[in-house]
Amino acid sequence: MGYPHPSHPKETVLLSKHFGDPEARGYAGWVKRGGYEGLRKALGMTREAIVEEVKASGLRGRGGAGFPTGLKWSFMPKEVVKPHYLVCNADESEPGTFKDREIMRWTPHALIEGCAIAAYAIGAQRCYIYIRGEFTEPWAVMSAAVEEALVNGALGDDVFGSGTRIEMVLHRGAGAYICGEETAMMNSIEGKRGNPRIKPPFPAVAGLFGMPTTINNVETLAAVPHVLTRGAAWYKSLCLGNPKSTGTKLVSVCGHIQRPGNYEVTMGTPIRDILYDMCGGPPPGRTFKAVIPGGSSVPIMTIAEAESALFDYEGVVEKGSMLGSAGMIVMDDSTDMVYQIWRLARFYAHESCAQCTQCREGTAWTTKVLERILAGKGKQEDYQLLLDLSENMTGKTICVLSDSCAAPVVSGIQKFRPEFEAYIAGSREPALAAV
Ligand code: SF4
Repeated sequence: MGYPHPSHPKETVLLSKHFGDPEARGYAGWVKRGGYEGLRKALGMTREAIVEEVKASGLRGRGGAGFPTGLKWSFMPKEVVKPHYLVCNADESEPGTFKDREIMRWTPHALIEGCAIAAYAIGAQRCYIYIRGEFTEPWAVMSAAVEEALVNGALGDDVFGSGTRIEMVLHRGAGAYICGEETAMMNSIEGKRGNPRIKPPFPAVAGLFGMPTTINNVETLAAVPHVLTRGAAWYKSLCLGNPKSTGTKLVSVCGHIQRPGNYEVTMGTPIRDILYDMCGGPPPGRTFKAVIPGGSSVPIMTIAEAESALFDYEGVVEKGSMLGSAGMIVMDDSTDMVYQIWRLARFYAHESCAQCTQCREGTAWTTKVLERILAGKGKQEDYQLLLDLSENMTGKTICVLSDSCAAPVVSGIQKFRPEFEAYIAGSREPALAAV
């Protein structure tokens, strides 16, 4: 649910303002709340002017990479000599991340409007929204909203009488984590196995069906109408930390915390405020131990690192991790870090598409070594083995899934080594049966 933090003005709650309001799901209710003003305004602007406005706002990709959105759009060919495509990444499979689902459930027209603006800006007549297969309710809500948008002229052959054509195709995935990787997603839409592609060529050159394509995340696109309606300067002013991180951000908080859920914060909000003021701190009688701030794919932060960090792209990097998808997984002092790292490694081993040797073998081998440690059969050499495996899995593969497996392992060994030591020394009861 949206959370108007007491120290921030309520109007900075943009994306979650209408979460929980059933009327906002429908076209009429959305228009009553100012919906589609951004698209109407955009249709009166040149494509280049829209791209410049989004660039000036400082909006960056909310799916994980944090790449500047306007700059990404500017990579598309200026002349539309062959079909251009927009793909909205609504796969949201990153562990600990559940914000895009809420945007689609409660404010489907915000996403449709953002997609329509982006499609127009990049010269695309067709937008694919790739929705995670398990998202049954968001799928139904989005399907109904697309129909309504078509009936009301917000999509179709002549959007709001402007002569602009924008089609929208909802494509339902089948539950593979790797299909959230943008090139795997394009393969999946094309009806192929969802394997990531080698880059280059980059999607703006040869993407979906070999045509120029831009891929943006749900939250990024849902923010675009606000940039258009209220202006780039206003959006850019929403910043409490580094000026390169602007706007608001939905953060999904889960784990050992009193009030888990989705919160919307201004970029640069202290993580401490999120953990304590918004989420109510740790469960009674517990203290926080660690936080994974960006979904499971980023380095683990100690609680000291997290509590001293600002919640923006640069603030989290300064403390040794990454903002990622902003799915914040919180762990208290009851957590067995070795066990949790093993569970993450096992997840990545399961989800590897197996194209790259380093990933296919590395994720499985890492999992096995961690299992050995948890079974009380670990050896001193296992630290170096895990670090060597992680090094070979980082920056050497087609996509970053294997880097994602390595990040919690390396940071876990660096920051929580005594917990590994306890298993290896036999001073802790094995957590798993011998393998
Ligand atoms: Fe597939 Fe892993 Fe290679 Fe990514 S890194 S392409 S998931 S094998």
